[in-house]
Amino acid sequence: MNLQSILNEKYGRSVKDCTNEEIYYGLLDMVKAAAREKTAPGGKKKIYYISAEFLIGKLLSNNLINLGLYDEVKTFLAENGKDICEIEEVEPEPSLGNGGLGRLAACFLDSIATLGLNGAGIGLNYHYGLFRQKFEKNLQTEEPNPWIEENSWLTKTDKTYDVKFRGYTVKSRLYDIDVTGYDSYTNKLHLFDIETVDESIVEKGIDFDKSDIEKNLTLFLYPDDSDEAGRLLRVYQQYFMVSSGAQLILDECIAKGSNLHDLPDYASIQINDTHPTMVIPELIRLLCERGIELDEAIDIVSRTCAYTNHTILAEALEKWPISYLQKAVPQLVPIIEILDDKVRRKFEGEKLAIIDRDDRVHMAHICIHYSYSVNGVASLHTDILKETELADFYKVYPDKFNNKTNGITFRRWLLHCNPELTDFITSLIGDGFKKDAMELEKLSAFADDEKVLGRLLEIKADCKKDLCSYLKKTQNLEINPDSVFDIQIKRLHEYKRQQLNALYIIHKYLEIKAGKKPSTPITAIFGAKAAPAYVIAQDIIHLILCLQEVINNDPEVSPYLNVIMVENYNVTNAEHLIPACDISEQISLASKEASGTGNMKFMLNGAVTLGTEDGANVEIHELVGDENIYIFGDSSETVVKRYADASYDASSYYENNEDIKAAVDFITSEEILAVGSKEHLERLKKELIGKDWFMTFPDFEDYIEKKELAFRDYENRMEWAKKMLINISKAGYFSSDRTIAEYNRDIWHLGE
Ligand SMILES: *Cc1c(COP(=O)(O)O)cnc(C)c1O
Repeated sequence: MNLQSILNEKYGRSVKDCTNEEIYYGLLDMVKAAAREKTAPGGKKKIYYISAEFLIGKLLSNNLINLGLYDEVKTFLAENGKDICEIEEVEPEPSLGNGGLGRLAACFLDSIATLGLNGAGIGLNYHYGLFRQKFEKNLQTEEPNPWIEENSWLTKTDKTYDVKFRGYTVKSRLYDIDVTGYDSYTNKLHLFDIETVDESIVEKGIDFDKSDIEKNLTLFLYPDDSDEAGRLLRVYQQYFMVSSGAQLILDECIAKGSNLHDLPDYASIQINDTHPTMVIPELIRLLCERGIELDEAIDIVSRTCAYTNHTILAEALEKWPISYLQKAVPQLVPIIEILDDKVRRKFEGEKLAIIDRDDRVHMAHICIHYSYSVNGVASLHTDILKETELADFYKVYPDKFNNKTNGITFRRWLLHCNPELTDFITSLIGDGFKKDAMELEKLSAFADDEKVLGRLLEIKADCKKDLCSYLKKTQNLEINPDSVFDIQIKRLHEYKRQQLNALYIIHKYLEIKAGKKPSTPITAIFGAKAAPAYVIAQDIIHLILCLQEVINNDPEVSPYLNVIMVENYNVTNAEHLIPACDISEQISLASKEASGTGNMKFMLNGAVTLGTEDGANVEIHELVGDENIYIFGDSSETVVKRYADASYDASSYYENNEDIKAAVDFITSEEILAVGSKEHLERLKKELIGKDWFMTFPDFEDYIEKKELAFRDYENRMEWAKKMLINISKAGYFSSDRTIAEYNRDIWHLGE
């Protein structure tokens, strides 16, 4: 094994005598060299996936798996008294993403390389990434999350570009991370950085001088945008990313022989949500600079760019005041005005305009008019875009719209995070599913095989024990491994409705207090970061942490019910939590969750979904059938209607439903106030009674009913194991290899 020779050279010691850190750095060198030996996929055309986030997770194990080295390394280390899991722990998790959108980008890069497509990611090299979450006095606090070490997956390149802001020019430098495909090629994730970034300007928590662009530009992902300086900083970041990326793309295409008039034959640029929208006017500007007529430049760019929409939440669709663009990147303003003018000449009215009456630039509108493809991320989501949110656009561009249901890479979310289950599946159906996920269907032949079902339960129990020791070791949390693990892990947002789950927990607590005890104890597990300026989200975290303290310390209740809030939810934590889950909470308000991908990871690992008919839950439901999922709540049509006619009145539910009233009142009970902050709790209660914008109350009784049903069904272990098996067997559709094959077939057309 050449790991030993690397360690000899680096430290002059045998692996036995090296520390875990030294072995990790040795493996880092080894994997980087092995990745470089694999060629990049060739071909004239290349796909550039441009995204503000790449939530890639730790890379060591994933790369070892994809390079086919994992078993060999693990055995070699074990023979020398070392545990590969402990070495994995040394690696810091890159903090380059926020949630599902960033994780999707990471899964897509894995699949693009695995399918042998010529592609690259383009993003920013945030030094402190998204914040690291800490809990203090039952409140979230935020800290920088540094992850870049002297020796890391980043490779500094000698490529630099000038990026022009109003009044000055900065230099961007390209760093690369290798993206290994499974038993396949190696692609690159291109991350741009500014040389003058200065980490020392960060003061208490995550505060810093937001106006000092040359020092702060690549410090944080999503800097607080509750003031104008923060919003401007986001504009600077976005332009820095797209201008660097656009220059790189043009350079690469020219090097391959493009005369730029034929750019669409050389490149497809997938715009992941609205953050990279400015790549469109920037490319137009660069093409004009290189001698192409404006109208032709617009046409070329429109045939090169494709846009993915990730949300129907109006507040999440970016609209930048034109004055911000004027301040930061005035060179784009005349181009955006021309783009708006062309739209206004073609289409009457304000709805399709790019610059609105308040002089705000609608970034999604730029993308829809000036891309050749607009896709949603699950079939319900795409339908809602066509019929409601983007109906006016769909009318004029019916052919642009298409659906690409999200997916996840099974290398990370099964092979890496659940080796025991992977080995068991392999023993039943061979290892073809590792390359062709649809082969998991073969598992359905074992749906009534008690030996197989028994083993599935054993594996789940092992994963639960592993999670218990992981959380004990890393966060000093105590969990009963024999309880039902009911898990909701995702960004904290009112539409995802952690508050609904919290209300259920209160309901259950009150029931237990009244003497009604569950047959199997329940552990409700949460993990969620809240945006620092999102007040109600912070309040919901506070409530959950207070419930954790009150319930887990109540000797009458804690034998039956526990609440666990995992600190700093990230990919690494997810990899431990997901294999251990029994019930997967996917309870967003119908119509609001574009797709979800957590739901897919859980299903693949044998959890049963408790969810609304929302996002990809709809497709999960269709695949597994009524018997193998717990669906509750109002339909998206009902919800959309209720918003349209403004007919929802939360207070009447509160007044007329005893369960709701009791649960909501408990938020400001003596018990909770004894451990919590009156200000936060009263504000949350008031918000629920007075507004409840994401309609938790109408779904509450149905949620309780279906959750009780799930707990009852859990008691019949064999029946439950059958549900687990069916879920795993139907998960193949949600492989990101399938998603990427569809993107290529319908949008990118590489290798044709
Ligand atoms: C998959 C994943 C998400 C997305 O979860 P959803 O439930 O789809 O919102 C967010 N964060 C991390 C760390 C993930 O791995």
